[in-house]
Parts: sequence; structure tokens; C-alpha cells
Amino acid sequence: MDKMYVAEPYKIKVVEPIRMTTRAQRQAALERAGHNTFLLDSRDVYIDLLTDSGTTAMSDRQWAGLMLGDEAYAGSRNFFHLLETVQEYYGFRYMVPTHQGRGAEHLLSRIAIKPGDYVPGNMYFTTTRAHQELAGATFRDVIIDEAHDPQADLPFKGNVDLRKFQALIEEVGAEKIPYICLAVTVNLAGGQPVSLQNIRDVSELAHRHGIRVMFDATRCVENAYLIKEREPGHAGRSVREILKEMMSYGDGCTMSGKKDCMVNIGGFLAMNDPELYQAATQLVVLYEGMPSYGGLAGRDMEAMALGIQESVDDDYIHHRIMQVRYLGDRLAAADVPIVRPVGGHAVFLDARQFLDHLPQDAFPAQMLAAQIYLQSGVRSMERGIVSAGRDREGQNHHPNLELVRLTVPRRVYTYAHMDVVADSITDLYEDRRRIPGLTMVYEPKVLRFFTARFEPLPVTQDGARQNALPA
Ligand SMILES: *Cc1c(COP(=O)(O)O)cnc(C)c1O
Repeated sequence: MDKMYVAEPYKIKVVEPIRMTTRAQRQAALERAGHNTFLLDSRDVYIDLLTDSGTTAMSDRQWAGLMLGDEAYAGSRNFFHLLETVQEYYGFRYMVPTHQGRGAEHLLSRIAIKPGDYVPGNMYFTTTRAHQELAGATFRDVIIDEAHDPQADLPFKGNVDLRKFQALIEEVGAEKIPYICLAVTVNLAGGQPVSLQNIRDVSELAHRHGIRVMFDATRCVENAYLIKEREPGHAGRSVREILKEMMSYGDGCTMSGKKDCMVNIGGFLAMNDPELYQAATQLVVLYEGMPSYGGLAGRDMEAMALGIQESVDDDYIHHRIMQVRYLGDRLAAADVPIVRPVGGHAVFLDARQFLDHLPQDAFPAQMLAAQIYLQSGVRSMERGIVSAGRDREGQNHHPNLELVRLTVPRRVYTYAHMDVVADSITDLYEDRRRIPGLTMVYEPKVLRFFTARFEPLPVTQDGARQNALPA
């Protein structure tokens, strides 16, 4: 018989106790948090699947690396270690550290975008698009149509539709497109990968028109693993080798070190063009710090350099992907609607289908995340209409995907924790009809999902269906 799961390629040296709570405690916590899981206190959470960002368990080697921090104001040796590591593993010539991914997105958007430009991307990411728009650009989604369909089971659902990219070039002209932002993997599509062939094709089309290819490399190692697994001809290669080839088709990347670089804080902007690098060094001193630390302590740069090396270990990445898939398989076996196929970092619940008695304007994914917390103390995140925000005319975006993300931190939880999550969501699914919708009672101007507050719509005698707002 096949093994049910891949055992951990690490052992536990330090433990962090977590607190069990009662349903009454969770109900009170949920009300304090305005039914927004971002506003829950961590101490009230049992299993925290809010995000895989900055939640990684560092290795003993990384912790030891913290002691090697060279906290010089300029020219820290940890900067050079990080630079050499980025050059070796990603292949880019220049690198500016930033406090996290959005710091790199800010720099890139400011130095590369002119007001009136267009930035195509394979689906948006919240902070990425916000920075592009702040710099005066219009974001255009050029991902394949199937990425917006939670049930379309394709191996490379993150791929760019080259016809959409070509059509944008014809519509606005290549001179209005400073770069294409190529996300590997695509977070909001469900952690879906881009194939190596598609990366090559995008690169060829972009470069033919003098358009740069800038990766959002946040989960590039997971993408490399899925290429090894799914794309013919790559099974025998190491993830490290595939990653370097992927990056070789681009001109640079933004990186949130809090994901695939396996650290709790950090990021960087990397590129090959010396002029772009010059511009970045001028701006980084204003917003982050000297170009040789960019908002990070020396020790943080050391931990990130070591994390980059560990992230491409084939046993590590195999276990990671399989642990996420195990959670997805357990939910699918109980007929809980999830996005297919399960991607690299998370299992996404299809809240539209899970709560199919609620219209999107009653925030089904937001409510589902709240109910999962109430059920078992498991914290997840809305990725639907709340996260999508409003357009520049102030209208709500209505994304096709109305999802709840169960994000698995790296090297943190065991398979037993995954079982708790799967069991509690399965129980909730059986009882889903009684769940009412929400109404938003506080809405901040930007990135509203972080701090918006909600209240449940009143439950009428006829049950939850009556709570449905006019669609
Ligand atoms: C997390 C993330 C970012 C932003 O990085 P931060 O470190 O959170 O600022 C950008 N793109 C993607 C795909 C991400 O998941």
C-alpha cells in the first residue's frame, strides 16, 4: 500500500505551546475582531493557517546564522553573503535588500513605471497591484481563463495567455508597458504554477518588444518543484537547477523572503540592468535604508541567505508540497469544494460553492473564514471580494474566485494538525446551510481586507437563505 504521507525530513528541537480555547471564548474573540481573522489575537488561535508569510520555522543553522550578524551601517558581510547567494541560486547580478516583499514592489514600481503605463500580470496580488496603481499604472490580468475557474484541473493553471499579452501590446503599445510581472506561483489562483515553456514563451514575446520580465519570485521554489513533477522532461533534474533556469528568462525579481526564503522578515529586489540598479539604490536610501541593508539587520540577511540555500533541498520541498496536498486530499475526500489542483502553499476552499445560498455581496468567504475559526480555533484568510477591493472608480471588484485560504507555514505543523483542520471543516460543511452572510461596517481606503470589520446579517425564521442580499 502507498504511504499516506511523506514523513518529515527534520526533527523537532524547540517547541512552542499553543492554546486550546472554548467555543464561547472564540465567539467573543470573533466579535472583538469584527469577524475579520486578520484582527484576531494570535493567543486566541489554535492552528494558524492565516498565512505562510514570515511564519516559517527557521533551522538550527539559520538561528546560528543570526549570531553571525555584522551590524555595520555599511558594507555588512552578511549583505555580501546574501548577494552571492542570490547570484548563485537565482542568477541575477544586482540585489537590493528590502524589509519585505512590498518594499521591493514599491521600489520597482517607482523606478520602472510612468503614469499612464500598463503592467500586465498573471492575476493580481494585493500589494503588488496597489504599488503599481500608486505609481500611476493600470494593471491588466493576462492569466489564462481557466485560472479563474476553481474546478479547471490543469497542471499549469498559472500560465500567461500569450494572446492576451499580445493583445495588450497591440492595444496600448509596447512603450507603455515597462515590464510584465510574472508571478511564480500564482497566489490568488490557488498557488498555481507556471510552466517552464510558458516562462520561455512570455520571455520571448516580451523581449521581442523591449518589455522586461520581472518575476514575483515569492514562491518560485514551489513553482520549480511543480515543474519537476508535472512538465515532461524535468523529472530527473534538481529543483535548484530548474529554479535557476526559470529565473534565467527574466530581467529581475521582487522577492518576499518571508515565503520561499524561509525567514520571518526580509525581501529583496534583484535585476540584471545596471541602470535599474542605480535607480533602485537611489530610492532605497529614502524608504528602506542603505543599499547594503535595505531595512534589514545584518543577522536577518544572514538568515535569508541560509534560507535560500535550504529552500531548494529536494527532500524539504517534496515534504512541503506533499503536506499541503495531504490536507487538500482529505478535504476533497469529504466532498468539501476546493480549488483544483491543490497548489504549492495552501488549500483554497471554494466559498461560493461551500456557501452557495449566499450572494457574493454578503461576503461568503469572509464568513466562512470566521466560521472555521469559531468551529475549531483554526485561522484562515479570505481571498475574494473583500481582498479584491474597489477599482479606481470606487466600484467593488467582483472576482470570480471567492476563496478561503488555508495556508500551511513551512516546517511548523505536523500531519496530526492537518487532520484537525480537515475534520473540523468537514463538520462545518455538513452544517453549512445555517451560516448567514455578513455586512461590512468599517472599510479602510486601501488594502481593506487587513482591517475591515463585519457583522453577521440577522438570522430570520426562514433561515440563512433569507439573509441573502439582492445579488
Ligand atoms: C506576500 C506576497 C507579496 C508581498 O510580500 P510581503 O513580504 O508580504 O510584503 C508579494 N507577492 C506575493 C505573491 C506574495 O505572496
